[in-house]
Amino acid sequence: MTATTATVRVMSPEEIAARAGGETPYFVWPARATVFAERAMRLKQLSRGHAMEGYLALMAAVAEAQQAELAALAAAPGLPMPDAAALDAAARRGVPPLAAGDWPRDAAWHSVLQRLLDRVLPLAPEPARALLQQWRAADAEALERQADALLHGVAAGLDLAAAPFIGAALQVVWTHLLLEVQRTHASGGQPFGRLDDPGLCPCCGSRPTASLTRSSGESLGQRYLHCSLCSLQWHLVRGKCSHCGDTQGIAYQSLDTAEQAPEDDTEDAAASRAAKAVVQAETCDACGSYLKIVHSDRDPFVDPVADDLATLTLDLLVSDAGKARSGVNFMLLFGPPEGDAAPPGGAA
Ligand SMILES: [Zn+2]
Ligand SMILES: [Zn+2]
Repeated sequence: MTATTATVRVMSPEEIAARAGGETPYFVWPARATVFAERAMRLKQLSRGHAMEGYLALMAAVAEAQQAELAALAAAPGLPMPDAAALDAAARRGVPPLAAGDWPRDAAWHSVLQRLLDRVLPLAPEPARALLQQWRAADAEALERQADALLHGVAAGLDLAAAPFIGAALQVVWTHLLLEVQRTHASGGQPFGRLDDPGLCPCCGSRPTASLTRSSGESLGQRYLHCSLCSLQWHLVRGKCSHCGDTQGIAYQSLDTAEQAPEDDTEDAAASRAAKAVVQAETCDACGSYLKIVHSDRDPFVDPVADDLATLTLDLLVSDAGKARSGVNFMLLFGPPEGDAAPPGGAA
């Protein structure tokens, strides 16, 4: 695929706020019944004829397994949760109550991982299957070391081949905890305060995978950041860098395939196609980072995680232009070569 980029003019945050009117909900909660199932469907849809077809199909199976595990957690005895006082104290201190790196993880996620691997292992190609079989049998200490590295964003010692699966299990647990907080504290108003850094998840402090423009209800046209761990979405005004808060040096780039470009292509025509792009990279000149934005008003089936994964070519283009990726996607981790990873048995 030959690809070029096109830059589009965007409205300022003030212009957008003026158009939006009304009260914008600060949080959009995941739907327990469909959050991972919809991702699985999107991954399957995107996989057909894609250069990464096999991997996207495997990740679709992972997302399906996540949905089943989320349902199983709902039916199981409750995991330890922050109570109302802990939520309140966190909100007062401006810290996330279920902080990814600090919350005492219940070992329940190990069995989530094992059942998830049981479902997807038969679909994994060799040699990944052999490696995942080792992780299926890994001891608790080795698993916790991987989780620590993943949740603290530390590449050293992280097994990148296993990370999508370990990340998937942790996502199930955190999404469950988030939904339990919503269920048990919904009557007391918003359970989470706002953090000083609006680019971090108010529930778990993780970085977003991407942002999403919404196409329905009170959130029409508004942009939300999608948490890479707990699936919460929180509002951030459009045209603002999620990494440094700058609004001046923001630009948008998108893939513009050669097949779409007519022979008599013009700059205006290219800009118009880019303005219809379902996935864009929102780049910031102030801090040199980018985060993808997916548009549900242009395609109702977009999913921040799936569409991010399926547009790896856009990452290559934008990073060639010198911008650093700020989004986190456990299904798509960039890190050192596999040789640096610790074996599942762990050289303790
Ligand atoms: Zn979160
Ligand atoms: Zn920035």
